[in-house]
Amino acid sequence: MARYRGAACRLCRREGIKLFLKGERCLSAKCALDRKAYPPGMHGLNRRRKESEYGIQLREKQKVRRIYGLMEKQFRNTYDKAARKTGITGEVFLQMLEKRLDNVVHRLGFAPSRNFARQLVSHKHFLINGKVVNLPSYQVKKGDVIEVNKKSKEKKVFAGTLDRRASLELASWLSWSEGELKGEVIDDPMVQEKKIPVEEHLIVEFYSK
Ligand code: SF4
Repeated sequence: MARYRGAACRLCRREGIKLFLKGERCLSAKCALDRKAYPPGMHGLNRRRKESEYGIQLREKQKVRRIYGLMEKQFRNTYDKAARKTGITGEVFLQMLEKRLDNVVHRLGFAPSRNFARQLVSHKHFLINGKVVNLPSYQVKKGDVIEVNKKSKEKKVFAGTLDRRASLELASWLSWSEGELKGEVIDDPMVQEKKIPVEEHLIVEFYSK
């Protein structure tokens, strides 16, 4: 599966906003955006041009694509599927991104970033309703129970999960079982609960051209 392999912090600096791509580091003094709050590249400091309408829409699309760590093709496919569903396309699209298994694994505190969550899912560390699912793009639904595979529970990567949860604000559409490597989808994602501000209508406008 193709994925961006460059420096994650460059993406935040390009978008001019923290995208929280590196787990705990993003909340520390080591955050690159806090230290260099200007776009990357040799002209980064001097770049002061006014964005066109197209440029604003493009940046919003890129920002969301980078938050979820998707390549353009996969992002666009998800958008096309959202556009075919009933409802407000922008909201349905964000809900579909939120319902990806890698995102849910990250939100439940099993992984400090979506990127890491994707690796854990691909390595078959998770069960959904008792069955192994290794597709990061899998769309969870209300009632799904996500838990760490019995064989993986003792692995070092999950040693910090319960501690990590203590500092996490759990999304209202998810729940976790206290003291267990387990969580549940209890509702549809609430798009209003965005940690990073997103103007999804700009993405719809971008793809509607
Ligand atoms: Fe972005 Fe995190 Fe890097 Fe800061 S540390 S620039 S929030 S990825």
